[in-house]
Amino acid sequence: MDLKWNTPVESLTKSEISRIFVLTVQLCQEEFGPPVAGKIPSLKIRPRSLCVCAGQYCWVKNQITVVIKQNPTLRSLIDTIIHEYVHSVQDLDMYFFLEEVFGYRSNPLEVQAVKIAEKWRTPFLRAIKSQEKIILQKNHRIFD
Ligand SMILES: [Zn+2]
Repeated sequence: MDLKWNTPVESLTKSEISRIFVLTVQLCQEEFGPPVAGKIPSLKIRPRSLCVCAGQYCWVKNQITVVIKQNPTLRSLIDTIIHEYVHSVQDLDMYFFLEEVFGYRSNPLEVQAVKIAEKWRTPFLRAIKSQEKIILQKNHRIFD
């Protein structure tokens, strides 16, 4: 995989997206701790969605949904995965109460998820790229 910031997500296969998800979530777990649900969230890939959201975290299923249409580039994909993972480690009991008080965008739980994703998407993409390189080198050694 030749991964760049502007790599179109639509050009990636489902298994490549899953691999990026697994690597991103691993980094999230190291950095932000395990989800409240105890185990790593599962991934659901949707080509498009009726709402404008790029992703969603469902705490009932402990599942992160990624909407391909709303994540045109690798940058937004990784941002979305981090954002939704942050929701998985937050105490979401107050989520809807806070939304009523502050609205969606100013909900402190949303503000925190946006900030953390912005801060970590660049170092995480770098880490994913270097990990991919190591895997490629290992494969070369196996096949050479
Ligand atoms: Zn959110």
